[in-house]
Amino acid sequence: MTYALILHGGAGADPARDYREQEAHMGELISSGQDRLLSGESAFDTVVALVKMMEASGLYVAGKGSAPNREGVVELDAGVMEGSSRKAGAVAAIRHAVHPVEAARQVMEDGRQVMLAGEGAGAFARAKGLDFVEDPDAYYVDHVKHGSQDAESGHGTVGAVALDRGGNLAAATSTGGTFFKNAGRIGDTPIIGAGTWADDTVAVSCTGLGEFFILTSAAHDVSARMRYGKASLREAAAATLAEVKRLGGNGGLIAVDRMGNIAMPFNSKGMKRAAVSDRAAPVVRVFEPE
Ligand code: ASP
Repeated sequence: MTYALILHGGAGADPARDYREQEAHMGELISSGQDRLLSGESAFDTVVALVKMMEASGLYVAGKGSAPNREGVVELDAGVMEGSSRKAGAVAAIRHAVHPVEAARQVMEDGRQVMLAGEGAGAFARAKGLDFVEDPDAYYVDHVKHGSQDAESGHGTVGAVALDRGGNLAAATSTGGTFFKNAGRIGDTPIIGAGTWADDTVAVSCTGLGEFFILTSAAHDVSARMRYGKASLREAAAATLAEVKRLGGNGGLIAVDRMGNIAMPFNSKGMKRAAVSDRAAPVVRVFEPE
């Protein structure tokens, strides 16, 4: 039965740096995600579980690996969406949540709102019993360790998209945002339709300079090109990224459609990514073309 899974660890990548640790980690995750889908776990549970592992690793600019904003505070964004139910949840500029993607999931499951931001998001997540970082100085990883200390490589959002064996699509994305961001800056990641999207056609998770992914409604744009324009997954993903570039942005996206086709294009220097499906053995890539 058809299934497919893609992960990304961000479009910020510097060819001068060594990403072997991230590659090894993504290799482990893609195999464990494959096992989850093969055992019948839903696409939604699989993408959330994998993004949580990436948040906890400290290897990407998300969760433990996040960078502080200009005021020295870590503010995090995350979004999740389930295609079959067309339900979504998101948190924006939440401070010190250990797993922002779990907070986003709780917003979705609570069902009263789609997105919560700032203090309200934090209060909601605390009320749900989620973990918060008590000692930020001790918890967050120094970015030099994961090679994302400058503007070009200074974004490393994580994301996952999947098609499960029941034909359901889902997407999850989590980020510490761009380096040197202003306090209160919200990127594309938690904006449903910009950085994260899933419906019955396609699931998409984006990474790159978030402002341009907001201005192009990038994640939803992939779906719209497929549904209204009858584009293939690859054509749609490429055209969306071309529009991001035309406006002056760069980055990449991962996308899986309901047939189990996968696309992971980027127009930055590299994008940490991994994929597997019932038709393709696991692959992990950073700089090589799609
Ligand atoms: N898209 C993210 C943001 O703008 C950054 C990234 O992908 O690394 O917040």
